Amino acid sequence: MAAWVESKLSGIGESIFSTMSRMAHECGAINLSQGFPEFQPPQTLIEAVHKALLDGYNQYAPMPGLPLLREAIAGKCAANLGYILHPETEITIVPGATAGIFCAVQALVHAGDEVIIIEPAYDCYAPAIKLAGAVAKSVALDPRTGEIPWDQVRKLINIRTRMIMVNTPHNPTGWVLSEADWAELERIVLASDLLLLSDEVYEYMVFDGQKHRSAASIESLKDRSIRLSSFGKTYHATGWKLGYISAAEPITKRIREVYQFMAFSASTPMQMGLAQFMRAHTDHETSVAALYQSKRDFLAQALKASRFQVLPCQGSYFQLVDYGAISQAPDREFAEQLTREYGIASIPLSPFFRNDPGHTLLRLCFAKENQTLAEAAKRLCEI
Ligand code: PMP
Ligand code: GLN
Repeated sequence: MAAWVESKLSGIGESIFSTMSRMAHECGAINLSQGFPEFQPPQTLIEAVHKALLDGYNQYAPMPGLPLLREAIAGKCAANLGYILHPETEITIVPGATAGIFCAVQALVHAGDEVIIIEPAYDCYAPAIKLAGAVAKSVALDPRTGEIPWDQVRKLINIRTRMIMVNTPHNPTGWVLSEADWAELERIVLASDLLLLSDEVYEYMVFDGQKHRSAASIESLKDRSIRLSSFGKTYHATGWKLGYISAAEPITKRIREVYQFMAFSASTPMQMGLAQFMRAHTDHETSVAALYQSKRDFLAQALKASRFQVLPCQGSYFQLVDYGAISQAPDREFAEQLTREYGIASIPLSPFFRNDPGHTLLRLCFAKENQTLAEAAKRLCEI
């Protein structure tokens, strides 16, 4: 291969979300693979964006985002999540959490550094670390219990360790960090003077009466953490690609240094529409948990008659199922077979690990209409 097309991400390949969504389309399968809602964002939100377009909000937004939106975010965090953010200095609007993670890593992780990730890890973490010239070090949580081997995390830490990344609620397993996990994490981060990147894009999807715990709500972690949120998740609009980074002012400064050259700013009419919607509606965010909890329960109930084992799910819009009673095939192979032969597309877990641990687990997205979930479950019950 010519040197000028040598990959900077060799060995990483196509995202499993692209692969499985394409296969779902080709096979005409029900797509429970890539995570996105089947339903629309609230009508009033769509109307607010439409109005912003017509009202002339069509040129560049200020680099860190529209002040009105940043104020609305700070208001929601104070009212719903229990922490205070300064809209001017601690919130930066970005074109989606993926871009936010990439930007934060490029801004704060240096060549030669090490970053600890917890597998199964969302697919954009390792490439962002690699492109910063750094090295990802991983430990694996137990998808059946959500247990994180904190002793192994401690063993990985050395003078080069710069950052640890966590994700709560967790994609793909649905686990939420417990108070004990936060205490361990806090001890580790403080003892070794690390940065914490906390991916909280499913912050409003926490079930069974639990509340989302953010790194921003833990005093000692607030100043050394970078938190990611995604409007795509909370407002059922993944295609809008809009999110935000929150971090203390010194960290935000570093992030904005890079962001101004990475994208400069994010879609103005979308930002304006969201700001107006968030100001006018006080209860959308807090209604999201009940919506998804009912879908989680609907799917779990419908799968009771199947040979799939449904694992616990504390948050996110993903359900793990174990197909071990049906097949011992590798997960990618089984997911492909399920798509082709039974018309159900899912996400295998192995792409979220650097070394396939050999789990017989698949991820199903339940952000779908109940009739879609019912039809999917019917097909799964036939296997
Ligand atoms: N982090 C996690 C854990 C995700 O699941 C996703 C997308 N589903 C993202 C980040 C990226 O979010 P966005 O679509 O806003 O880029
Ligand atoms: N985050 C979504 C998921 O987990 C997919 C986003 C993407 O396709 N990059 O399914």
